Amino acid sequence: MRQAMANAEVGDDVLDGDPTTHALEARVAELLGMDWALYCPSGTMANQVGLGLLGRPGTEVLLDARAHIIEKEKAAAAVMSGLQVHPVAGAGDVMTPDDLERAFPAPNRYGTPSSVVALENTHNSAGGRVTSLADMQRMADIARAHGCTVYLDGARLWNAAVALGTDVKTLASVADVTMVCLSKGLGAPVGSCVAGRGRVEPAWEIRTRMGGGMRQSGVIASAALHGLEHHRARLHEDHANARLFAAAVDGKGGARVVPPDTNIVMIDLGVGVQASVVAAAIAADGVRVSVWTATRLRAITHLDATRAQVEQAAHVVAHHLEASR
Ligand SMILES: *Cc1c(COP(=O)(O)O)cnc(C)c1O
Repeated sequence: MRQAMANAEVGDDVLDGDPTTHALEARVAELLGMDWALYCPSGTMANQVGLGLLGRPGTEVLLDARAHIIEKEKAAAAVMSGLQVHPVAGAGDVMTPDDLERAFPAPNRYGTPSSVVALENTHNSAGGRVTSLADMQRMADIARAHGCTVYLDGARLWNAAVALGTDVKTLASVADVTMVCLSKGLGAPVGSCVAGRGRVEPAWEIRTRMGGGMRQSGVIASAALHGLEHHRARLHEDHANARLFAAAVDGKGGARVVPPDTNIVMIDLGVGVQASVVAAAIAADGVRVSVWTATRLRAITHLDATRAQVEQAAHVVAHHLEASR
């Protein structure tokens, strides 16, 4: 990947185009079955370009109550696009078609209109939980029946496709606009692509307004291309490693592991055990886990962690969970 970056052919993507960035965008658009893709510095910006495209200021975007767009993007949809988020809470891990149907208010003249439904697959906060194509399609149908467009936060769509045994194009087909991360599972240092149908110009305009125009971006786009071509086929290894890790850690010290669909393992700690304390102890032994909430840790498997290292990490985490009791 570093070699590809060093050798990348570059131009000025703001001025008249960067060939490597163009190649990346064309490849991502092709993989997603979309008309265009635009390279963005982050998934957060890609989400905000997408919402800016689909949402009408003064309306709502309906989405899972624990969506990345709600939890991790500093109210950007409100600040940048004038959109109010409408968190949809359900009984399960992620928003279901029934949850979404119930969330739409009955039409009335003082209510806030909605313009977008945003899906997230896989769902980060739900532990990399996968939503089936059938459920995505039903939610898209419900959204359109209510006059809404459909956005898909597909930061982790590569993982969803592997877990569901399908391709990203099939999953993206339900959405008007989507995005995918090239960092994270694919291992690129930087970047995501937002992708959609029709004209690219409106998206280009919003990305520019957000400060997302990048000049010799081929230097980093080349890494993303490398990740696309070389690291997609191995994602199933991360999923297998996550299952192995989960099995080794579940029940230790009273902790409960959410069975992983993909490469995220959520660990709910035993009663009275604090996530920050356990995470610090685990870190002292060389394993980094995220403090997700006061009582929940998040572990990720990825291409830089071999099966042997994951086994070793599970050993360390299990030890500290037992000791925390
Ligand atoms: C990581 C992530 C993002 C944002 O990507 P960044 O590149 O970190 O800004 C958006 N949505 C989901 C579901 C994610 O997991």
